[in-house]
Amino acid sequence: MVGSGPNGLAAAITIARERRSVLLLEAGETIGGGIRTKELTLPGFRHDVCAAIHPLALASPFFRSLELDRFGVEWIHPPVPLAHPLDNDSAVLLERSIEDTASGLGRDGEAYRRLLGPFVQHWEGLVGDLLKPLGLPKHPFMALRFSLKGLLSARLLADRWFQDTRARALFAGNSCHSILPLEDMSSGAFGIMISMVGHAVGWPLAKGGSQALAEALASYFLSLGGNIAVNTPVASIKDLPKARVVLFDVSPRNLDQIVGERFPVSYRERLQGHRHGPGAFKVDWALDGPIPWKDPACLKAGTVHCGGIFEEIADSERQVWQGGAPERPFVLLSQPSIFDPSRAPGGMHTAWAYCHVPNGCDVDMTNAIEEQVERFAPGFRKLIKAKHIMSPARMEEYNPNYIGGDIVGGVQSFRELFIRPLGRWQAYSTPVKGYYVCSASMPPGGGVHGMCGHLAAKKALKEMLGS
Ligand SMILES: Cc1cc2nc3c(=O)[nH]c(=O)nc-3n(C[C@H](O)[C@H](O)[C@H](O)COP(=O)(O)OP(=O)(O)OC[C@H]3O[C@@H](n4cnc5c(N)ncnc54)[C@H](O)[C@@H]3O)c2cc1C
Repeated sequence: MVGSGPNGLAAAITIARERRSVLLLEAGETIGGGIRTKELTLPGFRHDVCAAIHPLALASPFFRSLELDRFGVEWIHPPVPLAHPLDNDSAVLLERSIEDTASGLGRDGEAYRRLLGPFVQHWEGLVGDLLKPLGLPKHPFMALRFSLKGLLSARLLADRWFQDTRARALFAGNSCHSILPLEDMSSGAFGIMISMVGHAVGWPLAKGGSQALAEALASYFLSLGGNIAVNTPVASIKDLPKARVVLFDVSPRNLDQIVGERFPVSYRERLQGHRHGPGAFKVDWALDGPIPWKDPACLKAGTVHCGGIFEEIADSERQVWQGGAPERPFVLLSQPSIFDPSRAPGGMHTAWAYCHVPNGCDVDMTNAIEEQVERFAPGFRKLIKAKHIMSPARMEEYNPNYIGGDIVGGVQSFRELFIRPLGRWQAYSTPVKGYYVCSASMPPGGGVHGMCGHLAAKKALKEMLGS
């Protein structure tokens, strides 16, 4: 197993559970990939370097099967999963209950209930069908209902279902997790999915930081007899010990560099041509106090979307796809220390925020991000004790999977994610027998759910190991 992100760890566990001997090689000095926690700013301030909020980990059929609480994971649920502040109105809240959320959406409340209600009711089956490669769904009626809506753009869905600013803003923010322009087909699917899991399982954070999830997965793996070697980058297949199966939790471009001429030229071209989307520009802050949101209801939320109304958010995301760094970016912010005091020394706080920028963009977005927070929380800047900045280039330096700062392994459009992963109908396998790709560049794509790793490993077990 090459790479110990959530997908690498999931793949390693899946194979070790079948009593096979597994060695996991990780380039970094610690395991975890996108789920590490570090003192990025000042001593005692613990920041999630990448992923911070874990609805997908909680919804993941594989992670659910592991009962990770036995290995020390404690999920903390902020009272409100998400707040979306507005300039001249109270913040829109995505609450755990659909009813409570709908009651904050005025005359769009009923439409919100009708749009989300059936999916939330059947979320478990639907998530099972969505978090896998394209194929026959186990719950065809719900899957069809989801596809008919989810294939639309976020803009079309918002136009059809909602009349007012509040519901449209909330839906725009959630659809931005697609990292697609909100006019693109299937951006609406992310808006529905992200809202649905918010109601179904919440948007929790891990006590002590996302690293706790990595450590729990590693402990599980070690308990099955697995072995881990950190500080062990695999630059070429010469670095690999003899193995019947190798799974790569790496980006397609890096897979090409590692495997090189053992792959046919046409496949190498596909690996090189794998399409990466916008990058992320991230700032972590050590703060002297909680963020002074104009609407104090935002302090109940683990995640805050700072971007204003639908049109403004859509403009900023479109600008990113047109190659420009937005002046007023859509900012995704999490404030974990309010709910988990272990993240910062007494009375002090941490916050994490990022915005989308063109792939590889070298514009410093720190000021633009802070302006957006200040807009909804005047006085925020005065609380900053220290900050840590990750541009797309620094993101890629930190983790070679984040090509040009793309944090989800490639463009997440329907076509890219399901129909044409690496130009093959068969997800995960490669032209070299025994070599499999299991990173977020494979279906079902980015996020901390481990399903790319688990499903790739199942395929390897079936094809190569007869299990
Ligand atoms: C800023 C940011 C915020 C995010 N927020 C969230 C969030 O809140 N919730 C969420 O669900 N997702 C979030 N994500 C996305 C999520 O972190 C990723 O989709 C997920 O980590 C992908 O997992 P992976 O196992 O495919 O790869 P990764 O997590 O990228 O792990 C790959 C691992 O492989 C190692 N590796 C790579 N090449 C080699 C090599 N040649 N030899 C040895 N080791 C190698 C790397 O060092 C790394 O440890 C965020 C990502 C970022 C960057």
